[in-house]
Amino acid sequence: MNPKAFGPIPPEFRDLAALPWLDEPTPAYVYDFAIVAARIARLRAALPDAVAVHYAIKANPLPALLKAIAPLVDGLDVASAGEMDRALDVMAAKAISFAGPGKRDAEIELAIRAGVTINVESESEAQRALAIGGLIEMRPRLAVRVNPDFELRGSGMKMGGRASPFGVEAQHVAGLVKRLILGGAEWRGLHIFAGSQSLDTQAVIETQAATVALAARIAEEAHRAPPLVNLGGGFGIPYFPGDTPLDVEAIGAALGEEIGKLRTSYAIELGRWLVGEAGVYLARVVDRKQSQGETFLVVDGGLNHHLAATGNFGTVVRRNYPVAVAHRLQDPAEEVVTIVGPLCTPLDRLADRVALPTTRVGDVIAIFASGAYGASASPAAFLGHPPARELLVGADHA
Ligand SMILES: *Cc1c(COP(=O)(O)O)cnc(C)c1O
Repeated sequence: MNPKAFGPIPPEFRDLAALPWLDEPTPAYVYDFAIVAARIARLRAALPDAVAVHYAIKANPLPALLKAIAPLVDGLDVASAGEMDRALDVMAAKAISFAGPGKRDAEIELAIRAGVTINVESESEAQRALAIGGLIEMRPRLAVRVNPDFELRGSGMKMGGRASPFGVEAQHVAGLVKRLILGGAEWRGLHIFAGSQSLDTQAVIETQAATVALAARIAEEAHRAPPLVNLGGGFGIPYFPGDTPLDVEAIGAALGEEIGKLRTSYAIELGRWLVGEAGVYLARVVDRKQSQGETFLVVDGGLNHHLAATGNFGTVVRRNYPVAVAHRLQDPAEEVVTIVGPLCTPLDRLADRVALPTTRVGDVIAIFASGAYGASASPAAFLGHPPARELLVGADHA
């Protein structure tokens, strides 16, 4: 049987056998903070000094990770009151922004009381924030999320250029900004997020240029420079065969040219690119079985822990994440196996017909590129298995 390819193993893990946490009880996620710290350092070196780096915590909200990352970034972006709580534990309120549709009144009130910036997603949400601010006699800090009139090309999840629950139509933003200021809010700027998981360097460069141009246009219409322009993010990481990494140095150099066109403060907000490659999901082989000439490895966790690796979180065609037998990374492939989780659904497929060294029951399978949208983006309650443990290592050296 012809094996299917799997994605590239991040270079930091090519010597996996030497890593001490391989013998941790499974199922587990392990996040190596040294890799996160290295990503942040590389990004800072690539970006113009005027561009702040924010972490969008929904990619991985593990409290230990937030504590380690907070001193290395300039801000945290959250998308619920629950995330806001976690962010406030590690970061000053003025460096936290709260985006996302459907903010409840109670969430808005908590944000205003804490001094967190609310990125308003609609006219009516803006009006509610002003009203709640009036009621509790506190001045809300409000930024306007813009639904851009373009999208990030090559993006896994498109979030611009179309009808959207996110943000206010670009042509209505300047008017809203004026009303917010008249209504007594502290206007914190613009938030423009055009897509996620792009590996197309040129597309990211063009999107950032279009974002700066759009912010400049809105500033002109509103007769005010935004205090901060949050350029969004959308930087992808390699997951699948043939994926190649983004050239962040080229992106940073191009952004340096663009930001001169509107003089203000900038931020980019990244989730996946900062943490995705730092995480490994470990699951242990519980059973091996043959069925009609195919070999199945059944492991002790699946889509209940790692929905994305099974292809059920925003991918159109199911492809294989980078995978290895944890203790035999250097060994040659000897058999073609399909790796499934313990759930009673055919969706629970972690790797489809991959060529690996021969495994025995008790061996550990590692799935790489699992640091973002893993544990917290999976239906952990489905079928009632225990959750995956989550372990942060390497934070003491950061
Ligand atoms: C999800 C999200 C992010 C992070 O996206 P990544 O693709 O993980 O970098 C950033 N900003 C907003 C508004 C988001 O919703």
